[in-house]
Amino acid sequence: LPTTTASTNNRLTFFRFNFLIRTMASHIVGYPRMGPKRELKFALESFWDGKSSAEDLQKVAADLRSSIWKQMADAGIKYIPSNTFSFYDQVLDTTAMLGAVPPRYGWNGGEIGFDVYFSMARGNATVPAMEMTKWFDTNYHYIVPELGPEVKFSYASHKVVNEFKEAEALGVITVPVLVGPVSYLLLSKPAKGVEKSFSLLSLIDKILPVYKEVVTELKVAGATWIQFDEPSLVMDLDSHKLQAFTHAYSELESSLSSLNILIETYFADIPAEAYKTLTALKGVTGFGFDLVRGSKTLDLIKGGFPSGKFLFAGVVDGRNIWANDLATSLCTLQALEGIVGKDKIVVSTSCSLLHTAVDLVNETKLDKEIKSWLAFAAQKVVEVNASAKALSGQKDEAFFSANAAAQASRKSSPRVTNEAVQKAASALKGSDHRRATNVSARLDTQQKKLKLPILPTTTIGSFPQTMELRKVRREYKAKKISEEEYVKAIKEEINKVVKLQEGLDIDVLVHGEPERNDMVEYFGEQLSGFVFTVNGWVQSYGSRCVKPPIIYGDVSRPKAMTVFWSSMAQSMTQRPMKGMLTGPVTILNWSFVRNDQPRYETCYQIALAIKDEVEDLEKTGINVIQIDEAALREGLPLRKSEQAFYLEWAVHSFRITNCSVKDTTQIHTHMCYSNFNDIIHSIIDMDADVITIENSRSDEKLLSVFREGVKYGAGIGPGVYDIHSPRIPSTEEIADRINKMLAVLESNILWVNPDCGLKTRKYSEVKPALSNMVAAAKLLRTQL
Ligand code: GLN
Ligand code: ZN
Repeated sequence: LPTTTASTNNRLTFFRFNFLIRTMASHIVGYPRMGPKRELKFALESFWDGKSSAEDLQKVAADLRSSIWKQMADAGIKYIPSNTFSFYDQVLDTTAMLGAVPPRYGWNGGEIGFDVYFSMARGNATVPAMEMTKWFDTNYHYIVPELGPEVKFSYASHKVVNEFKEAEALGVITVPVLVGPVSYLLLSKPAKGVEKSFSLLSLIDKILPVYKEVVTELKVAGATWIQFDEPSLVMDLDSHKLQAFTHAYSELESSLSSLNILIETYFADIPAEAYKTLTALKGVTGFGFDLVRGSKTLDLIKGGFPSGKFLFAGVVDGRNIWANDLATSLCTLQALEGIVGKDKIVVSTSCSLLHTAVDLVNETKLDKEIKSWLAFAAQKVVEVNASAKALSGQKDEAFFSANAAAQASRKSSPRVTNEAVQKAASALKGSDHRRATNVSARLDTQQKKLKLPILPTTTIGSFPQTMELRKVRREYKAKKISEEEYVKAIKEEINKVVKLQEGLDIDVLVHGEPERNDMVEYFGEQLSGFVFTVNGWVQSYGSRCVKPPIIYGDVSRPKAMTVFWSSMAQSMTQRPMKGMLTGPVTILNWSFVRNDQPRYETCYQIALAIKDEVEDLEKTGINVIQIDEAALREGLPLRKSEQAFYLEWAVHSFRITNCSVKDTTQIHTHMCYSNFNDIIHSIIDMDADVITIENSRSDEKLLSVFREGVKYGAGIGPGVYDIHSPRIPSTEEIADRINKMLAVLESNILWVNPDCGLKTRKYSEVKPALSNMVAAAKLLRTQL
């Protein structure tokens, strides 16, 4: 027999592969970049630390890309995306593509390399990073473009074309993905020095020529489809903004002839007006919709879809980790096929899979039953293709029946349902839960007991998390040290933190949270209804990832969670010690939530569990309890029509946690942002006794709320210094900020505290900063 060389073998496999697998009408909007074991994170961080070369980083990235393309090709996906990889962020990639580098980064033209790119992302020795903000209602953060009339746009990064060619060389013709020009502008902010009134959309005719160049180059390289992500279309845009889409895509049309254009929308139902504008775009071949979040888009499609165009039907959830209910999806797809035509429907994901975990295969610690209910990105790819095959009459019966069996086991599993919890939670709906007395009367009662000075000082909860502390927790978890040793070590830490605060003369103390890894995980691990993954990471920003817990069943609290540590801490001091809890809305918003009941029901269940904890804390003599709702605003739906309902049940859930406490028990809450001008009435409606909020990076925003006449009767502690920075604020500086607040807020409701928890700081920063903070409060007390 003749010996075959490796390369003929490869060719043969590739040929066979193409011959046997007919690709179905299936599409993936985007895919996680980090890698199944966060390979990209480690490669990036090692490169940033100077421990590896740019080539090393490029190699890891190329390997990740090729394995993703291969995986999708093997699964039979027809429309495989490229350029959904990024070294940091896809919006920043677009900024690089357009050459829109802010002048302070010293770019002198030419192809943008790692230097300039990572300086924009992370800052460098002399210049801070560009601003970062949340990508719609996800926990992903993008780098905000800074644009003004002066920016000279030019084609300065060929990444999208390079990636297309890279895939092509591997035998995969991909669909290059670009952040659409209109969403790009709508996600930007005016550069420093540019008036607020500057219209970002007025730049559209300046960026379109670059887009045209890119598209032309992609066409020459062999692309037949291009995907433009325009998620802004799901926001409630006015007609002026909608017109920008019509303008942009008719402009682009000339360079697009013979190319198929897909406009992809996601994260919510698309408003009727936007749907009309979008589907009227002439040069566009396909439209992608999120059919998981909301059901109104489906009605719009049923009400009319342009003939001859492709519908990319996003039925597989890109925001969650649950296996798709394939039978139900197939029904939806068949109904849609009846409307748009047989060869015009493409099965897709609801949005990029960037927002879900990567691969279930690596979850070796999850038990089999729960695992059968889940699908991470890699599994979702298979689901998309199986649905497309079924739609074309080639249903994989075995796959579908295994899926049906898993769905049925999830529905009937006794692990999911807890009758008592279901009953208690549904009894809450429609009723209200409030403390009996109003907040100013409560504050008076509390003051009699607490006897705090005016401008009382406190901190937000955590103290520095040292290496030793992490080690102790790790070793205890791994059973390398005994419970006794662990308790001893944590107790010593708490004692140290208590003594430190007493020494600093802080008025209301915290125990420092040394026993907690993460404010949600700590509670999730002690509540039933939660499971945890080993590798279920989701990119948050740059190389940072989070690993959200999975809420799979009814939530209950088998036993007290924080009483042991809080009462121990209280016993160490005469001063009030704050009990420290994470609120139900934050636990919900930072988890993968079950999709078999409305979110509010799950939230009410968590609220009841936290309520039990609040009551137990109160019973052991804790008089001040802080219930953090760091992520309350994060869950706010994108569509205005849905916001009031969310705020109503979210705020109600918070009130449930503490509606039963005595007037003498002071309830605090904490929030990590200050741009809540639009939700201030909901925040007042939470009816906490004291709220501490982030503020130091945006004094003005926060204070303007009160300047505009909003009456705030409860205690309020706008952060007096930024804990995200190692800088130590001086006494004068802090006093100055407090004075600014006193100009709009009554002195008897003002608290003095940092912005957020101190866990990422060093003691060498925390001690002088807190000491200056207390000094500033004392200084002002003498002047009031
Ligand atoms: N109590 C928490 C802490 O201090 C609050 C953290 C947060 O708001 N993100 O760490
Ligand atoms: Zn915070």
